[in-house]
Amino acid sequence: MQVRLAGIKQESVTDGFGLRSVIYFQGCPHHCPGCHNPESHDPTAGYPAETDDILDLLCSNRLIDGITLSGGEPLLQPQAALALARGARLRGKTVWLYTGFTLDAILADPAQRLVLSYTDVLVDGVFVLAERDLSLPFRGSRNQRLLTPTAWQALIG
Ligand code: SF4
Repeated sequence: MQVRLAGIKQESVTDGFGLRSVIYFQGCPHHCPGCHNPESHDPTAGYPAETDDILDLLCSNRLIDGITLSGGEPLLQPQAALALARGARLRGKTVWLYTGFTLDAILADPAQRLVLSYTDVLVDGVFVLAERDLSLPFRGSRNQRLLTPTAWQALIG
């Protein structure tokens, strides 16, 4: 499946627990003031890639614990996000998902909620400059939450 990306970071220790590969999706509708990655907003920019190629490249690194879907907004391309999350799990890797959407909004969208079935940690909500806090682990502002499957598994069955 094709996905439009802003970039890939093959090894990171700041985008979730352990050593992770970060996949930056292209396109974001949230336009948060103070965004760390404004060049990722235009959904027509970036470059196309194949999800299987990305997984083969990243998951061949036995040192990584998993992948992190970031952006941009991964859930603007929910089928590609699903393919990457499911493929990473099949390869024995964990999945972190950063999204500007809240858990409630994701659960209300049939395509987006499927991605949660293959997500180990969800970081939800837009970046709010007034709530920026550099001391927070793995997130930029206090409104953003680190959520694990106990937060949604009873709701998605
Ligand atoms: S959700 Fe993330 S990428 Fe999108 S505008 Fe906000 S901070 Fe930037």
